[in-house]
This record gives sequence, structure tokens and C-alpha cells, in this order.
Amino acid sequence: MSDLDRITAPKIISVTNQKGGVGKTTTTINLCAALAELGRRVLLVDLDPQGNASTGLGINPEDRDYTTYDLLAGDATLFDAIKQTDVENLQIIPATTDLSSADLELISNEKRSFLLHDALRQSSIDAFAFDYILIDCPPSLNILTINALVASQSVIIPLQSEFYALEGLSQLMLTIREVRQSANRNLRIEGVLLTMYDRRNNLSQQVEEDARSNLGELVFNTIIPRNVRLSEAPSFAMSILQYDSASRGSEAYRELAQEIVAREA
Ligand code: ATP
Ligand code: MG
Repeated sequence: MSDLDRITAPKIISVTNQKGGVGKTTTTINLCAALAELGRRVLLVDLDPQGNASTGLGINPEDRDYTTYDLLAGDATLFDAIKQTDVENLQIIPATTDLSSADLELISNEKRSFLLHDALRQSSIDAFAFDYILIDCPPSLNILTINALVASQSVIIPLQSEFYALEGLSQLMLTIREVRQSANRNLRIEGVLLTMYDRRNNLSQQVEEDARSNLGELVFNTIIPRNVRLSEAPSFAMSILQYDSASRGSEAYRELAQEIVAREA
């Protein structure tokens, strides 16, 4: 790789938490859309067999002719797998249920944890000139999530602002440390993101205090409020910025995008 290639290489970020329903997909879709609005070229990789990010961005199941699974299995090129969304500057590799970890286990490959890493580093990716690649992970610490962590420069960890939010975080941190030691020395934590925050609720404030005192600088300044518009948008196959541009949810994801873009060298 020449220095020039390195300058233009996309930043790859996993959005992960093995806990279900904490706001991973909502964050992936809307952060992608907010980065795209800032003029960045963005790819969303749907790495969850539930395919929620694909559905939320309006990619119908019958249009998912090539999926993340095909890419990992070597049955599709990046040109086959990458689809344009309705959002300018935002493309997606969709997923379907064929992307179960069981299917992936069938791939007899000693580099099984590197499948996504290798797929996203094919030289043909340069043609797309992506600035950011965001990976929506499944609610599990399985081989799919390991692939995401091995492929990424950094990790965003959404924390739902509710009781037990920090539970399970130590296991995730341990997995990140193991991946650092074995496969991806430079893996960083981009930030822990408080989601579904309700300012009127003492519990939300308690979770924020706990997170900031335990994790300090790792916690993003931006907080994502509980906002019903965020939960409505996917059923209209829209990002929050398209669905309700002036909502508090839109404001919050724009602010998060700004916080991340400010770190660009
Ligand atoms: P899974 O683990 O199943 O993949 P997830 O971590 O991706 O879930 P989401 O699907 O993003 O979580 O969110 C779970 C539910 O909470 C969804 O119905 C979503 O619309 C809703 N939701 C997420 N964030 C917010 C928010 N800030 N305000 C209101 N509702 C939200
Ligand atoms: Mg999800």
C-alpha cells in the first residue's frame, strides 16, 4: 500500500453491544445518514442476520440479491454487493437470514475471523472512495461480531440508559482486548454512546453518572434522547434526517456525526 492509498482509506467503525435492543441499528443508520449529509461518502455493512438496517433503509428482501454473506463467502464482489440507498452519499451491503453464524461456521477457513477484514480491503474498494464504513453488529459476541472487530479501526458501543445498562460491558471490553492481542492491535474505542436517554428519568441520569465516572473520556459528549420519531422512521424506510429533519433525534445524530468528524486528522 502506498502512502497515498493510506490517506484515502476509509475509517471502519463497528457499532456493537451483545445486548439486544440498545440502539445499535438506529445509531448505525442515522449516524451514516448524518455523516453522508456532511458530504462524507459512507458505506453501511449490515452484519446482522435480522437485516434491520437493510429494511430500515428501504432495501426490500427481494432486492437483496447479493448480501454480506455472499461477500464473506467469496461469492460476490464489492461491485455486486454494494447498493445505493435513497440517501445521497450512502451505500449499503444488505443482509438476510442466510448470514447466521452457523452458516459462517461452514466456511472451512482458518482465517475465518478475517473474512470481513479481507473483503473490505480488496483493492476494488478504492473505486468507491468511501470516507467511513459503519458495521451494524448482531446482538451477540459470535464469529460475526469478531469479524467486525477484526475489520475495524474503532468501536462505538451504544448503552441504553436503563437499569443494567453497564452489565455485560466488561465482557465486551474483554473481547475487544482479546481481539487487540490476537488480530487487531490498533482497535480503539471510538466511544460509548448513551441512547434512549430520558432527562426526566432519574435512572437515565444515574446511568450517565455511572458511565462517565467508570469510563470517563470514552463516553461521547453527545447523548441520544428517547425520541419516538427515531422509532417511527424505519417503518417508513427512512433515516431520521429524511423522516423528520427537525426532530430531537435528528439533532442528536447530527451532533454525534460532528463529534466524530472533528476527530478527522
Ligand atoms: P438488536 O440487538 O435487536 O439488533 P439494536 O441494538 O439494533 O437491536 P435498535 O433496533 O436500534 O436496537 O433499537 C431497539 C428499539 O428501540 C427499536 O424499536 C428502535 O426503534 C427503538 N429505539 C432505538 N433508539 C431509540 C431512541 N433514541 N428513541 C426511541 N426509540 C428508540
Ligand atoms: Mg440491530
